[in-house]
Amino acid sequence: MTAQLWTGVDIGGTKIAAGTVDSAGRVLARAQRPTPEGETAIAQTVAALIEELNGSGDGSVVGIAVPGYVSTDHRSVLYAANLELQNTRLADLVESRVNINALVINDANAALWAEHRFGAARGEQNVAMVTVGTGIGGGLLVNGQLVVGQNGWAGEIGHMVVDPGGRACGCGSRGCLDRYASGSALEKEARTAEDFAQIAHWLGFGLSQVSMLLDPGLVLLGGGVSAAGEALAQPTRSRLAQLLAEHGRDTAPLVRTAALGPDAGFIGAAAYAADHASAAYAADHASAALGQGAMLATER
Ligand SMILES: [Zn+2]
Repeated sequence: MTAQLWTGVDIGGTKIAAGTVDSAGRVLARAQRPTPEGETAIAQTVAALIEELNGSGDGSVVGIAVPGYVSTDHRSVLYAANLELQNTRLADLVESRVNINALVINDANAALWAEHRFGAARGEQNVAMVTVGTGIGGGLLVNGQLVVGQNGWAGEIGHMVVDPGGRACGCGSRGCLDRYASGSALEKEARTAEDFAQIAHWLGFGLSQVSMLLDPGLVLLGGGVSAAGEALAQPTRSRLAQLLAEHGRDTAPLVRTAALGPDAGFIGAAAYAADHASAAYAADHASAALGQGAMLATER
């Protein structure tokens, strides 16, 4: 029996990273290229990276993480501001260039899935992840499933309003968490205890609202700022516990930093695509046995 290998791609604002991952989440090979402009050039670069790792493609699956909203069928990028992509049929564009089945996933959701399968959220079924970098992203795992919502933009923790009428946000609203707790809100790289105290103050508030809504067992801090580890996790943990106590909640979620680092995007995309494909395969075969195969086959 040969070990199963997966392929994942993570499209960032400046570079596209890709890797071959085994079913234990270990990275066996990696490749990266600068992010070009335009959907055609991006799809070409993704296809070239897949070929570099996987030859001409073998009919298997690839997961592609993007910093933006993704359609609920995981085929299209609805909107990705940094990449200037809008309603881009990215899965089609990649599949037309290389022999592989592509699945598109939001990058914070991909990171959350990687942590759930192999990292700091392993074994946890209810997780709120917040990624703090230049901006703030988020992902939600409820009863072991990623929550994408009706339109594909669930979990946008960065655009929860924490200060009504406050600082103007690029999204068009005011007072979004992103404007108070991100790297760009600090206008410098977070380094000092004071920086982390400011981030934790606002992050803890946003997470208390998420906790009142979803009651997660674990809050996971990811993104570049999470490299600070306990310097950020500790003040966030105490702020969150204090705010929940004010709501009469005497148990607060665990607060941990993510374990997988910058590879989490392509690891999670690869694993989610493989898990999604095997779930679809299992459902297809189960329904074929019931004589309903045609009905499910039209879902993709
Ligand atoms: Zn906003």
